Amino acid sequence: MQFRPLGRTDESIPVVGLGTWGIGGEIGPDSSRDEAGIQALRLGLDLEMKFIDTAEMYGAGHSEEVVARALQGRHDRVFVASKVSPRHFAYDDVLAAAKRSLKRLGLKQMDLYQLHWPNSRIPISETMKAMEKLVKDGLTRHIGVSNFSVEQMKEAQQSLSHKKIVSNQVEFSLVDRSVEAGIMPYCQKEGLTLIAYSPLGQGKIPRGRGSSFKVLDKVAERLGKSRNQVALNWVLQHDSVVAIPKAADTGHVRENAEVAKWKLGSEDYQRLAKAFA
Ligand code: NAP
Repeated sequence: MQFRPLGRTDESIPVVGLGTWGIGGEIGPDSSRDEAGIQALRLGLDLEMKFIDTAEMYGAGHSEEVVARALQGRHDRVFVASKVSPRHFAYDDVLAAAKRSLKRLGLKQMDLYQLHWPNSRIPISETMKAMEKLVKDGLTRHIGVSNFSVEQMKEAQQSLSHKKIVSNQVEFSLVDRSVEAGIMPYCQKEGLTLIAYSPLGQGKIPRGRGSSFKVLDKVAERLGKSRNQVALNWVLQHDSVVAIPKAADTGHVRENAEVAKWKLGSEDYQRLAKAFA
C-alpha cells in the first residue's frame, strides 16, 4: 500500500481506503447484507486498506455499527473517519453526535471527524468551536470537511483558533472532474488532503459504455488491469488525493487493493484525461 500525508500533519494514510455508504443494510440491520459488508471490510483491512470512511448519516448510523463489527478483535492500526450531519451543526449537537458515533463505532476516539455538507443556517464558527472542543477532549484527532467549496474551506479554517483542517472529502473520478477547477488546486496549495469519494462514479465506471470507455478499456487491456483499476489509478495520479471506493463484493475489494501497486504512465494519464474531458 502507498501512503500520502494527511494534510500538513506528520502522519500518512493509505491512498486507497474503504467507503461504507451502502455497506451492510441500507436503513438498518439486515443480517445477510451486514455479514457480507463486514467480510468485505475485514478483507479490505487484511489487504492493507486500513482507512475506513463512514458517517452518522449512512444507514441512520447503522454503517458505523457495521464498521465496529469489522474492527472487533483486530489489533492493527486502522484510520477511522466519520462525519457529522449538517442538521447537527449547532455546538451541543456536534458534541452529542460525535459521542453517539463513537459509541456505535465502539471507539474512544476517531481519527478524523468531518462536516458532511455545509449548512448555511448555522454559523460555521459555532460548528468549528465544537470541533475544536472534540479535539481538545480527545474524541477526534483531526478535523475535516466534505463537499466544501474553496470559500467554505477558507471560512471554516478561519473559524478554527489553533487547529488546521486536514482534508476535504469531495466527489472525484474520471466521470466527475468538477473539483479540478478550484477545489483540488486549493487543497494542493494549502496542504489539505483531497479524499475522493465515488471514485468509480457510484458504479458508472464499472457499467459505462461509449467512446470514452472504449479508450479506458483499451488502456486497461494493454496494461493487464481492469478498467476500474485503471480509473482508480488515474484518480491517484493527482497530488494530495486519496480515494475511498466502496466495494461490498470481495472480488472488487481484492481488485481495489491492487490499485496502488503500479503507476499509470503519463501518456495513458493524458489519453484518459482527454477521453473523459
Ligand atoms: P463508488 O465507490 O464510486 O462506487 C461504488 C460502486 O462501484 C459499487 O456498486 C461497487 O460494487 C462498485 N465497485 C467497487 N469496486 C469495484 C471494482 N473493482 N470493480 C467493479 N465494480 C466495483 O461510489 P460511492 O459508494 O458513492 O463512493 C465511495 C464512498 O465514498 C462511499 O461509500 C462513502 O464512504 C463515500 N461518499 C461520501 C459522500 C460525501 O458526501 N462525503 C458521498 C458519496 C460517497 P459492490 O459494492 O457490489 O462491490
